[in-house]
Amino acid sequence: MSTIGWVERCLVAARRASVLSGTAQGTSESSKWRMTGRALARGVASALLPPVCCLCGARGQAPDFDLCDVCTTFLPVLDSVDGAPGSMASVGDCTLVRNLFLFKYEFPVDQFIRALKFRGERVFARVLGTLMARAHCDLGWELPAVIVPMPLHAARYRQRGFNQAHEIARFAARTLNARAHRVSVDPGLLVRTHATREQSGLSLEERRKNVRGAFEVVRAVPQGRIALVDDVVTTGSTAMAAAHALSAAGAREIELWAVARVLLAGRSAVDPGVHDVQAVVGENEVRAAAAADLVDLVIEAEEGCRVARSHVHGFGKREPE
Ligand SMILES: [Zn+2]
Repeated sequence: MSTIGWVERCLVAARRASVLSGTAQGTSESSKWRMTGRALARGVASALLPPVCCLCGARGQAPDFDLCDVCTTFLPVLDSVDGAPGSMASVGDCTLVRNLFLFKYEFPVDQFIRALKFRGERVFARVLGTLMARAHCDLGWELPAVIVPMPLHAARYRQRGFNQAHEIARFAARTLNARAHRVSVDPGLLVRTHATREQSGLSLEERRKNVRGAFEVVRAVPQGRIALVDDVVTTGSTAMAAAHALSAAGAREIELWAVARVLLAGRSAVDPGVHDVQAVVGENEVRAAAAADLVDLVIEAEEGCRVARSHVHGFGKREPE
């Protein structure tokens, strides 16, 4: 076997294992070094080797899309009941908001997002950003003037070292611009002025009100449509809070792009009908006003412990070690 063939087989095995295992990841210094090493190795490999499907190991799609044609057809696309692209809302006086939510937060998309978010595997930013750009092109919507990633709070950014929404946005813009468009990414336009984690324990309405003031636009909003990009939406309250901030700063057309939307046991995540649910996350018991809020909390907590979904009014059942 040639050296390139051997390296390619190792790369495939590593990708498949990383996607499918969903192993717990700590935040120790040693794990950060391992993450950096893996990310570096994949960066070099992806520059030298053809794309490889991150699910089945078959050849990916040229020039650099790491999913094969077959696996792409099995992604959990949102249907119209769950919030397929296109629904609209108004924010502020006259800002129009239109959503582009791609998938249900289910396998394998949930694993893609976790691998990116908690293990720093940028290959999944490329996969998800490319899918996002393709979906936008397929809809034939007018392109945005600028893409704005959903910002992390400064403390969370320091902890993680990158913003997963920014990574996805970069690859979405790169895919759009490969088709001769000119779309820029502006990660500094919008900042998160306080950590939304502090909202735990608040009622749904209190949470919305609190999040509404969590964002600030720090410079002039550019003319034209703005695409606000996030990895996962649950209630949508965070995204709408960010849209409110952009609207107040003068934005008149906003699209909300999200890779996945969390759905609960067949009901919409924005349905506040399940109240006062709780779960055990690591050493802590968390409580939320609605199941959808609990999902937010559990997703946040996954950075520190291994959590699996439960089908009982929300999430939070801890897997055996
Ligand atoms: Zn495949």
